[in-house]
Amino acid sequence: MSSPAYVGRFAPSPTGSLHLGSLLAAVGSFLDARSHGGHWLVRMEDLDRARVVPGSADAILRTLEAFGLPWDGEVEYQSRRTHLYAQALESLRSAGRTFECSCARRELAAEDSGYPGTCREGPRRPGAAAIRFRIDERETIAFEDRFQGAIALALDKLGDVIVRRRDGVFAYQLAVVVDDASQGITDVVRGADLLESTGWQIALRRALRLRMPRHAHLPLLLERSGGKLAKSRRAAALDARQAGAEVSKVLRLLGLPPPAQLAGAPPASLLEWAAGRWSERPARLPRQIVLEAA
Ligand code: GLU
Repeated sequence: MSSPAYVGRFAPSPTGSLHLGSLLAAVGSFLDARSHGGHWLVRMEDLDRARVVPGSADAILRTLEAFGLPWDGEVEYQSRRTHLYAQALESLRSAGRTFECSCARRELAAEDSGYPGTCREGPRRPGAAAIRFRIDERETIAFEDRFQGAIALALDKLGDVIVRRRDGVFAYQLAVVVDDASQGITDVVRGADLLESTGWQIALRRALRLRMPRHAHLPLLLERSGGKLAKSRRAAALDARQAGAEVSKVLRLLGLPPPAQLAGAPPASLLEWAAGRWSERPARLPRQIVLEAA
């Protein structure tokens, strides 16, 4: 069986409802997949049980349906795939690429960049420890981001990254590379808040000899104050009755304002129109967009 030429994904964390920023990531990755005639998968990143809000995975799926964003195949849940992360961790360990770290978060808070390598030669304290991936600090990860252009990330600035937390939970950085590879993802399209993480993810993929996807980072939405999307906006679940208006807003932010004839159109029609014009949007997208006051 030949593998499809394009497989994209949307990978929300079910820690609350979708908000405008996550809708932008969903719409951007959906349109990129559809315009390439590709598949669009949904994966729930629900490893951090303490942060998962019960019911929110289902609520996210209902929102995607109401917003005209049907996914292909079965939804994957990271919480059901931990055996795969354990295997990957074991392969990093046997290649000498991991070490145990006993540092508490507050001990590292003062560091302005990365992890200073405190436990590289062994944990400083006995007891439960996190596991970190040993980066090659001489390495700079360079890649072409389809929306952001040429990116270069110096690994020494990022530091050794946690791949399994002290409480035993596998970290996002490890799970994401394992899943993208096992699901055959060819194109990672997501918010620019994860641009830096791409440095670790590319290094992890190299160490695990996993297939390298293309990357494309969508604009991160910021408040006028320069801060992250306000809690009120994040907390306010997207209203399915406003789906057309919200999708139009996101399309404008992505540089594809829908024409007047489509005012009031259902979200699926807006998305179909936009998929046909996706290649006409500006080739480069901004890294951040400051929203007007709500
Ligand atoms: N689960 C991550 C988030 O909600 C996204 C991961 C990804 O797209 O790589 O921010």
